[in-house]
Amino acid sequence: MRPAEVLARATDYLERHDVESPGPTAELLLASVLGTDRAALYTRSEGLSSAEARRFGRALCRRCTGTPVQHLTGVQGFRHLTLAVRAGVFVPRPETEIVAGIAIAMIAGRRSPVVVDVGTGAGPIALAIAAERPDARVIATDVSSEAIELAAENAERLGLVVDFRVGDLLDPVRNEHPDLIVGNPPYVRADELDDLPPVVRADPETALLEPPGLYGRLFRQSAQLLRTGGAVVVEIGETRSAEVGREAVAAGLTDVTTHPDLAGRDRVVSAVKP
Ligand code: GLN
Repeated sequence: MRPAEVLARATDYLERHDVESPGPTAELLLASVLGTDRAALYTRSEGLSSAEARRFGRALCRRCTGTPVQHLTGVQGFRHLTLAVRAGVFVPRPETEIVAGIAIAMIAGRRSPVVVDVGTGAGPIALAIAAERPDARVIATDVSSEAIELAAENAERLGLVVDFRVGDLLDPVRNEHPDLIVGNPPYVRADELDDLPPVVRADPETALLEPPGLYGRLFRQSAQLLRTGGAVVVEIGETRSAEVGREAVAAGLTDVTTHPDLAGRDRVVSAVKP
């Protein structure tokens, strides 16, 4: 069977198991098994070896039982980068690309800015900023040493320099005065956790579940550390903008702004140190 026929069958199989985006999922998994790209699948006439067919069958099976496609392919695109991902570290999401974009826009006028990405996970925001602003000095923190290890591997493979530090929020940042503090902190509430789809539940709970008072603490630390005129940019749950905005004001920050994503959902709050 040519890959194109294998794909048609696999798509049908995924569809019957109610997997989201069955066509693209089948393509991603087969391209990953064959070590090729998606377009090449349609021009290749050579059939799958029995080992490849077995690996592909196993991947389909695991996807149908809830394993995220990224844990099967081991990669996730983020802005211009391809990042390695694995179970145990939060998989970067498309909505966080918007957070990174707003953060990059906020330092547009600053030369050699100092940037801190809090809760970096696999490193997407820190690495995107390092790639798109080569003059920036980027520091990234995470409570999880497993995350920091993966983020550092990503930096190394991409040839980007980020100063990674294990620790909570801005705790590991004492002597710098950043121009920008950015992050996608955990913001899922305990009572929302059980309703999350299996692909989200596949992420570590520390990356999802909001510790009480997290935004307030992050804003107070930011107000202390940021250079005058520096900004903090955070991802939020879509219903939380008013509450998170109030926390920013209470911490003494100004210019508190909510930014919608492409679907019009409140996704990001930014604020400035006066
Ligand atoms: N946006 C994530 C989701 O898929 C939640 C991420 C977070 O808590 N930062 O639900």
